[in-house]
Amino acid sequence: MEFVSALADFQRECSCPICLDYLKDPVTISCGHNFCFDCLNHSWKDLTDAFPCPVCRFGFPERKFRRNPQLCNLIEIAQLLRIRKSKRKRQEENAICEKHNQFMTLFCVKDLQILCTQCSFSAEHQRHHICPIKQAATFQRRILESSIQPLKNNVERVEKVLILQGRKFLELKKKMDGLILSTRHACMVSILMHWNLSKINL
Ligand SMILES: [Zn+2]
Ligand SMILES: [Zn+2]
Ligand SMILES: [Zn+2]
Ligand SMILES: [Zn+2]
Repeated sequence: MEFVSALADFQRECSCPICLDYLKDPVTISCGHNFCFDCLNHSWKDLTDAFPCPVCRFGFPERKFRRNPQLCNLIEIAQLLRIRKSKRKRQEENAICEKHNQFMTLFCVKDLQILCTQCSFSAEHQRHHICPIKQAATFQRRILESSIQPLKNNVERVEKVLILQGRKFLELKKKMDGLILSTRHACMVSILMHWNLSKINL
């Protein structure tokens, strides 16, 4: 299991978060995230005054990145190991933005919408909280769980009330039955007495 997760880490390390392929001509920006040179350039192409990281959204005042030759070696190893998923598989697992023809790997928390990097840098989502889809999924699951808990508590409370009321109902029914029985008894007695009296009177 450890080996599998280590391999997954290694694979993530070697792939570009934008095209999801092996990093081509890898560059690293100041926050530590790596991209293909072309992918980063392409996602920053319409920006002028701030250059946010496509993954962590940290904003940089200038287009600054450094080449990462060590990473090139790692990618060569990864390519030899063939641990990257096939392009078809990646296309099956990730939706592609029709507008920009890029994988939609990001999630706008405000609009509850999945986005590609280009979309996320558009004016429409500029001030919105955007995070990678995987992170969003965990987050949404947590929200869902926390919203289910009070519901569960409510159900438990209602159940308790129902049980209590059921018990009260049974007690009440027992009392009523007793009352009916004793009333019936009293009636019988009075009828009998009446009947006896009328017999005597005859
Ligand atoms: Zn790329
Ligand atoms: Zn970053
Ligand atoms: Zn897009
Ligand atoms: Zn948005």
